[in-house]
Amino acid sequence: MTSAGAVLIDGKALSESTRSTLAERLRAAGRRARLDAILVGDDKAAAIYAENQARTCAAVGIDYVLHRLPAGARFDDIAGRVLLLNAADDVRAIMLHLPLPEGVDTERVQSLIAPEKDVEGVNPANIGNAVYGRRSLVPCTALATLEMIEWTRTPLRGARCVIVGASNIVGKPIAVLLMRAEATVISCNKYTKDLASLTRTADVLVAAAGVPGLITAEMVKPGAAVVDVGINRVPGAGGKMVTVGDVAFDDVRRVAGFLSPVPGGVGPMTVAMLLRNCVDAALRV
Ligand code: NAD
Repeated sequence: MTSAGAVLIDGKALSESTRSTLAERLRAAGRRARLDAILVGDDKAAAIYAENQARTCAAVGIDYVLHRLPAGARFDDIAGRVLLLNAADDVRAIMLHLPLPEGVDTERVQSLIAPEKDVEGVNPANIGNAVYGRRSLVPCTALATLEMIEWTRTPLRGARCVIVGASNIVGKPIAVLLMRAEATVISCNKYTKDLASLTRTADVLVAAAGVPGLITAEMVKPGAAVVDVGINRVPGAGGKMVTVGDVAFDDVRRVAGFLSPVPGGVGPMTVAMLLRNCVDAALRV
Protein backbone atom coordinates (compact mmCIF):
# COMPACT_ATOMS: atom_id res chain seq x y z
CA MET A 1 0.00 0.00 0.00
CA THR A 2 1.25 3.48 -0.82
CA SER A 3 0.17 6.83 0.57
CA ALA A 4 -1.80 7.24 -2.66
CA GLY A 5 -3.87 4.22 -1.66
CA ALA A 6 -4.39 0.83 -3.20
CA VAL A 7 -2.77 -0.23 -6.45
CA LEU A 8 -5.50 -0.50 -9.08
CA ILE A 9 -6.09 -3.89 -10.66
CA ASP A 10 -6.73 -2.60 -14.16
CA GLY A 11 -9.08 -5.13 -15.76
CA LYS A 12 -9.10 -3.28 -19.06
CA ALA A 13 -5.31 -3.35 -19.46
CA LEU A 14 -5.15 -6.95 -18.27
CA SER A 15 -7.86 -7.95 -20.71
CA GLU A 16 -6.02 -6.28 -23.60
CA SER A 17 -2.82 -8.16 -22.86
CA THR A 18 -4.80 -11.41 -22.50
CA ARG A 19 -6.39 -10.83 -25.91
CA SER A 20 -3.07 -10.27 -27.63
CA THR A 21 -1.71 -13.45 -26.03
CA LEU A 22 -4.74 -15.33 -27.39
CA ALA A 23 -4.30 -13.91 -30.88
CA GLU A 24 -0.65 -14.94 -30.71
CA ARG A 25 -1.55 -18.48 -29.58
CA LEU A 26 -3.87 -18.89 -32.56
CA ARG A 27 -1.29 -17.43 -34.96
CA ALA A 28 1.41 -19.73 -33.62
CA ALA A 29 -0.90 -22.73 -34.04
CA GLY A 30 -1.90 -21.55 -37.54
CA ARG A 31 -5.55 -21.90 -36.51
CA ARG A 32 -8.74 -19.91 -36.11
CA ALA A 33 -11.17 -20.59 -33.31
CA ARG A 34 -14.95 -20.44 -33.58
CA LEU A 35 -17.72 -19.56 -31.17
CA ASP A 36 -21.29 -20.71 -31.87
CA ALA A 37 -23.79 -18.57 -29.97
CA ILE A 38 -27.52 -19.21 -29.66
CA LEU A 39 -29.82 -16.21 -29.43
CA VAL A 40 -33.53 -16.73 -28.91
CA GLY A 41 -36.07 -14.01 -29.72
CA ASP A 42 -35.66 -10.56 -31.26
CA ASP A 43 -34.65 -8.47 -28.28
CA LYS A 44 -32.77 -5.45 -29.72
CA ALA A 45 -30.33 -5.13 -26.82
CA ALA A 46 -29.39 -8.80 -27.06
CA ALA A 47 -28.82 -8.45 -30.82
CA ILE A 48 -26.52 -5.45 -30.29
CA TYR A 49 -24.67 -7.38 -27.60
CA ALA A 50 -24.20 -10.27 -30.02
CA GLU A 51 -22.89 -7.91 -32.74
CA ASN A 52 -20.34 -6.47 -30.32
CA GLN A 53 -19.36 -9.94 -29.29
CA ALA A 54 -18.79 -10.89 -32.94
CA ARG A 55 -16.42 -7.92 -33.34
CA THR A 56 -14.56 -8.74 -30.14
CA CYS A 57 -14.09 -12.32 -31.30
CA ALA A 58 -12.93 -11.31 -34.78
CA ALA A 59 -10.20 -9.08 -33.33
CA VAL A 60 -8.62 -12.13 -31.69
CA GLY A 61 -9.13 -14.56 -34.60
CA ILE A 62 -12.33 -16.23 -33.45
CA ASP A 63 -15.13 -16.73 -35.98
CA TYR A 64 -18.56 -16.02 -34.56
CA VAL A 65 -21.57 -17.97 -35.76
CA LEU A 66 -24.90 -16.71 -34.45
CA HIS A 67 -27.82 -19.16 -34.40
CA ARG A 68 -31.06 -17.19 -34.12
CA LEU A 69 -34.22 -18.87 -32.98
CA PRO A 70 -37.64 -17.18 -32.99
CA ALA A 71 -39.15 -15.68 -29.83
CA GLY A 72 -41.74 -18.47 -29.83
CA ALA A 73 -39.07 -21.20 -29.58
CA ARG A 74 -39.83 -23.79 -26.91
CA PHE A 75 -37.56 -26.00 -24.82
CA ASP A 76 -37.45 -28.73 -27.49
CA ASP A 77 -36.41 -26.27 -30.22
CA ILE A 78 -33.59 -24.76 -28.18
CA ALA A 79 -32.45 -28.09 -26.76
CA GLY A 80 -32.51 -29.54 -30.28
CA ARG A 81 -30.17 -26.82 -31.53
CA VAL A 82 -27.80 -27.39 -28.61
CA LEU A 83 -27.70 -31.12 -29.33
CA LEU A 84 -27.00 -30.49 -33.04
CA LEU A 85 -24.08 -28.22 -32.13
CA ASN A 86 -22.83 -30.77 -29.59
CA ALA A 87 -22.69 -33.35 -32.37
CA ALA A 88 -20.99 -31.15 -34.99
CA ASP A 89 -17.25 -31.80 -35.25
CA ASP A 90 -16.45 -28.28 -36.44
CA VAL A 91 -18.16 -26.72 -33.40
CA ARG A 92 -15.80 -26.47 -30.43
CA ALA A 93 -17.35 -23.64 -28.39
CA ILE A 94 -21.04 -23.06 -27.58
CA MET A 95 -22.71 -20.28 -25.62
CA LEU A 96 -26.31 -19.44 -24.92
CA HIS A 97 -27.51 -15.83 -24.78
CA LEU A 98 -29.98 -15.11 -21.97
CA PRO A 99 -32.77 -14.63 -21.24
CA LEU A 100 -34.62 -17.54 -22.79
CA PRO A 101 -38.36 -17.20 -23.40
CA GLU A 102 -40.62 -17.47 -20.39
CA GLY A 103 -41.41 -21.03 -19.44
CA VAL A 104 -38.14 -22.45 -20.80
CA ASP A 105 -36.01 -23.96 -18.04
CA THR A 106 -32.65 -22.22 -18.56
CA GLU A 107 -30.64 -24.52 -16.30
CA ARG A 108 -32.01 -27.56 -18.06
CA VAL A 109 -30.88 -26.19 -21.44
CA GLN A 110 -27.47 -25.19 -20.05
CA SER A 111 -26.89 -28.65 -18.65
CA LEU A 112 -27.29 -30.08 -22.17
CA ILE A 113 -24.28 -28.21 -23.55
CA ALA A 114 -21.42 -30.69 -24.01
CA PRO A 115 -19.01 -29.97 -21.13
CA GLU A 116 -15.96 -29.73 -23.43
CA LYS A 117 -17.74 -27.10 -25.59
CA ASP A 118 -19.34 -25.17 -22.71
CA VAL A 119 -17.15 -22.04 -22.85
CA GLU A 120 -19.26 -20.15 -20.30
CA GLY A 121 -18.93 -22.98 -17.80
CA VAL A 122 -22.68 -23.13 -17.20
CA ASN A 123 -23.08 -26.92 -17.32
CA PRO A 124 -22.86 -28.13 -13.70
CA ALA A 125 -20.56 -30.93 -14.94
CA ASN A 126 -17.86 -28.33 -15.44
CA ILE A 127 -17.92 -27.08 -11.87
CA GLY A 128 -17.85 -30.73 -10.77
CA ASN A 129 -14.77 -31.30 -12.89
CA ALA A 130 -13.19 -28.18 -11.42
CA VAL A 131 -13.77 -29.50 -7.88
CA TYR A 132 -11.95 -32.70 -8.83
CA GLY A 133 -9.12 -30.71 -10.47
CA ARG A 134 -9.94 -32.22 -13.86
CA ARG A 135 -9.66 -30.32 -17.10
CA SER A 136 -12.78 -28.18 -17.30
CA LEU A 137 -14.21 -24.93 -18.67
CA VAL A 138 -14.82 -22.77 -15.60
CA PRO A 139 -17.33 -19.85 -15.53
CA CYS A 140 -15.66 -16.78 -17.03
CA THR A 141 -16.28 -14.37 -14.13
CA ALA A 142 -14.62 -16.78 -11.70
CA LEU A 143 -11.63 -17.16 -14.04
CA ALA A 144 -11.45 -13.38 -14.39
CA THR A 145 -11.44 -12.94 -10.61
CA LEU A 146 -8.66 -15.49 -10.18
CA GLU A 147 -6.55 -13.85 -12.92
CA MET A 148 -6.90 -10.50 -11.20
CA ILE A 149 -5.94 -11.93 -7.81
CA GLU A 150 -2.95 -13.67 -9.39
CA TRP A 151 -1.88 -10.39 -11.00
CA THR A 152 -1.40 -8.96 -7.47
CA ARG A 153 1.10 -11.80 -6.79
CA THR A 154 -0.54 -12.47 -3.43
CA PRO A 155 0.64 -15.99 -2.53
CA LEU A 156 -2.59 -17.96 -2.43
CA ARG A 157 -1.48 -21.12 -0.66
CA GLY A 158 -2.46 -20.62 2.98
CA ALA A 159 -3.91 -17.16 2.32
CA ARG A 160 -7.22 -16.32 3.92
CA CYS A 161 -9.76 -15.58 1.20
CA VAL A 162 -13.25 -14.31 1.99
CA ILE A 163 -15.86 -14.35 -0.77
CA VAL A 164 -18.99 -12.31 -0.19
CA GLY A 165 -21.68 -13.86 -2.39
CA ALA A 166 -22.21 -17.54 -3.10
CA SER A 167 -24.22 -17.89 -6.32
CA ASN A 168 -23.74 -20.94 -8.51
CA ILE A 169 -22.26 -19.00 -11.41
CA VAL A 170 -20.10 -16.44 -9.54
CA GLY A 171 -19.37 -16.89 -5.81
CA LYS A 172 -19.19 -20.69 -5.60
CA PRO A 173 -16.89 -21.21 -8.64
CA ILE A 174 -14.56 -18.50 -7.27
CA ALA A 175 -14.45 -20.40 -3.96
CA VAL A 176 -13.61 -23.63 -5.80
CA LEU A 177 -10.76 -22.02 -7.76
CA LEU A 178 -9.31 -20.53 -4.58
CA MET A 179 -9.64 -23.88 -2.78
CA ARG A 180 -7.78 -25.48 -5.66
CA ALA A 181 -5.01 -22.94 -5.06
CA GLU A 182 -4.92 -24.27 -1.46
CA ALA A 183 -6.13 -21.03 0.09
CA THR A 184 -8.26 -20.99 3.24
CA VAL A 185 -11.65 -20.04 1.88
CA ILE A 186 -14.63 -18.51 3.67
CA SER A 187 -17.83 -18.30 1.68
CA CYS A 188 -20.38 -15.70 2.85
CA ASN A 189 -23.96 -15.10 1.84
CA LYS A 190 -26.82 -12.84 2.88
CA TYR A 191 -27.39 -14.91 6.04
CA THR A 192 -23.78 -14.65 7.23
CA LYS A 193 -23.60 -13.23 10.75
CA ASP A 194 -21.25 -10.34 11.47
CA LEU A 195 -19.86 -10.18 7.95
CA ALA A 196 -17.34 -7.47 8.87
CA SER A 197 -15.62 -9.67 11.46
CA LEU A 198 -14.86 -12.14 8.65
CA THR A 199 -13.97 -9.72 5.86
CA ARG A 200 -11.54 -7.90 8.18
CA THR A 201 -9.42 -11.05 8.41
CA ALA A 202 -9.12 -11.50 4.63
CA ASP A 203 -5.82 -11.33 2.75
CA VAL A 204 -7.97 -11.60 -0.37
CA LEU A 205 -11.50 -10.22 -0.36
CA VAL A 206 -13.91 -10.85 -3.23
CA ALA A 207 -17.17 -8.89 -3.30
CA ALA A 208 -19.82 -10.61 -5.43
CA ALA A 209 -23.13 -9.90 -3.72
CA GLY A 210 -24.78 -7.38 -6.04
CA VAL A 211 -25.19 -4.85 -3.22
CA PRO A 212 -23.78 -1.38 -4.02
CA GLY A 213 -21.31 -0.06 -1.44
CA LEU A 214 -21.60 -3.16 0.76
CA ILE A 215 -17.88 -3.31 1.52
CA THR A 216 -16.60 -0.27 3.40
CA ALA A 217 -13.09 0.60 4.63
CA GLU A 218 -13.78 -0.71 8.18
CA MET A 219 -14.45 -4.14 6.68
CA VAL A 220 -11.08 -4.42 4.94
CA LYS A 221 -7.76 -5.55 6.37
CA PRO A 222 -5.05 -2.97 5.58
CA GLY A 223 -3.07 -4.10 2.54
CA ALA A 224 -5.61 -6.72 1.40
CA ALA A 225 -6.24 -7.52 -2.27
CA VAL A 226 -9.86 -6.63 -2.99
CA VAL A 227 -11.64 -7.72 -6.16
CA ASP A 228 -15.03 -6.14 -6.84
CA VAL A 229 -17.22 -8.37 -9.00
CA GLY A 230 -20.45 -6.44 -8.43
CA ILE A 231 -22.13 -4.60 -11.28
CA ASN A 232 -24.95 -2.38 -10.04
CA ARG A 233 -26.84 0.44 -11.75
CA VAL A 234 -27.62 3.27 -9.32
CA PRO A 235 -28.68 6.91 -9.72
CA GLY A 236 -25.59 9.14 -9.78
CA ALA A 237 -25.13 12.91 -9.85
CA GLY A 238 -28.08 14.63 -11.52
CA GLY A 239 -30.12 11.45 -11.36
CA LYS A 240 -28.18 9.90 -14.28
CA MET A 241 -27.76 6.13 -13.87
CA VAL A 242 -24.18 5.01 -13.25
CA THR A 243 -22.49 1.63 -12.80
CA VAL A 244 -20.90 0.87 -9.44
CA GLY A 245 -19.55 -2.23 -7.74
CA ASP A 246 -20.15 -3.75 -4.30
CA VAL A 247 -17.15 -1.93 -2.82
CA ALA A 248 -17.28 1.69 -1.62
CA PHE A 249 -14.37 2.48 -3.92
CA ASP A 250 -12.99 5.80 -2.61
CA ASP A 251 -13.33 4.64 0.98
CA VAL A 252 -11.74 1.21 0.53
CA ARG A 253 -8.99 2.53 -1.72
CA ARG A 254 -7.40 4.21 1.32
CA VAL A 255 -7.02 0.88 3.13
CA ALA A 256 -6.63 -1.93 0.59
CA GLY A 257 -3.31 -2.95 -0.97
CA PHE A 258 -4.94 -3.70 -4.33
CA LEU A 259 -8.40 -2.86 -5.59
CA SER A 260 -10.23 -3.50 -8.85
CA PRO A 261 -12.46 -0.70 -10.15
CA VAL A 262 -16.02 -0.91 -11.52
CA PRO A 263 -16.33 -0.33 -14.42
CA GLY A 264 -12.99 -1.39 -15.90
CA GLY A 265 -12.29 -4.32 -13.57
CA VAL A 266 -13.76 -7.80 -13.62
CA GLY A 267 -16.16 -6.93 -16.48
CA PRO A 268 -13.61 -6.64 -19.33
CA MET A 269 -11.60 -9.54 -17.91
CA THR A 270 -14.73 -11.73 -17.98
CA VAL A 271 -15.02 -11.12 -21.72
CA ALA A 272 -11.34 -11.98 -22.17
CA MET A 273 -11.85 -15.24 -20.25
CA LEU A 274 -14.70 -16.24 -22.57
CA LEU A 275 -12.33 -15.71 -25.48
CA ARG A 276 -9.65 -17.74 -23.69
CA ASN A 277 -12.08 -20.59 -23.10
CA CYS A 278 -12.89 -20.52 -26.86
CA VAL A 279 -9.22 -20.67 -27.78
CA ASP A 280 -8.60 -23.46 -25.25
CA ALA A 281 -11.54 -25.41 -26.69
CA ALA A 282 -10.32 -24.85 -30.27
CA LEU A 283 -6.72 -25.87 -29.59
CA ARG A 284 -7.59 -28.86 -27.44
CA VAL A 285 -6.52 -32.05 -29.19
P1 NAD B 1 -26.99 -13.49 -7.11
O1 NAD B 1 -28.08 -12.56 -6.73
O2 NAD B 1 -27.30 -14.74 -7.84
O3 NAD B 1 -26.21 -13.93 -5.77
C1 NAD B 1 -25.85 -12.99 -4.80
C2 NAD B 1 -25.14 -13.67 -3.66
O4 NAD B 1 -24.74 -12.67 -2.74
C3 NAD B 1 -26.00 -14.66 -2.88
O5 NAD B 1 -25.21 -15.76 -2.47
C4 NAD B 1 -26.48 -13.84 -1.67
O6 NAD B 1 -26.75 -14.65 -0.54
C5 NAD B 1 -25.26 -12.95 -1.45
N1 NAD B 1 -25.60 -11.70 -0.79
C6 NAD B 1 -26.58 -10.81 -1.12
N2 NAD B 1 -26.60 -9.79 -0.25
C7 NAD B 1 -25.62 -10.02 0.65
C8 NAD B 1 -25.15 -9.32 1.80
N3 NAD B 1 -25.73 -8.18 2.20
N4 NAD B 1 -24.13 -9.85 2.49
C9 NAD B 1 -23.54 -11.01 2.09
N5 NAD B 1 -23.94 -11.72 1.01
C10 NAD B 1 -24.96 -11.21 0.31
O7 NAD B 1 -25.93 -12.60 -7.92
P2 NAD B 1 -24.74 -13.06 -8.91
O8 NAD B 1 -25.30 -13.47 -10.21
O9 NAD B 1 -23.80 -13.98 -8.18
O10 NAD B 1 -24.03 -11.65 -9.12
C11 NAD B 1 -23.42 -10.97 -8.04
C12 NAD B 1 -22.93 -9.63 -8.56
O11 NAD B 1 -21.90 -9.85 -9.55
C13 NAD B 1 -24.01 -8.79 -9.24
O12 NAD B 1 -23.76 -7.43 -8.98
C14 NAD B 1 -23.79 -9.07 -10.71
O13 NAD B 1 -24.22 -8.01 -11.55
C15 NAD B 1 -22.28 -9.20 -10.75
N6 NAD B 1 -21.76 -9.99 -11.87
C16 NAD B 1 -20.67 -9.49 -12.49
C17 NAD B 1 -20.11 -10.17 -13.54
C18 NAD B 1 -18.89 -9.60 -14.19
O14 NAD B 1 -18.53 -10.02 -15.28
N7 NAD B 1 -18.19 -8.67 -13.55
C19 NAD B 1 -20.67 -11.37 -13.98
C20 NAD B 1 -21.77 -11.88 -13.31
C21 NAD B 1 -22.30 -11.17 -12.24
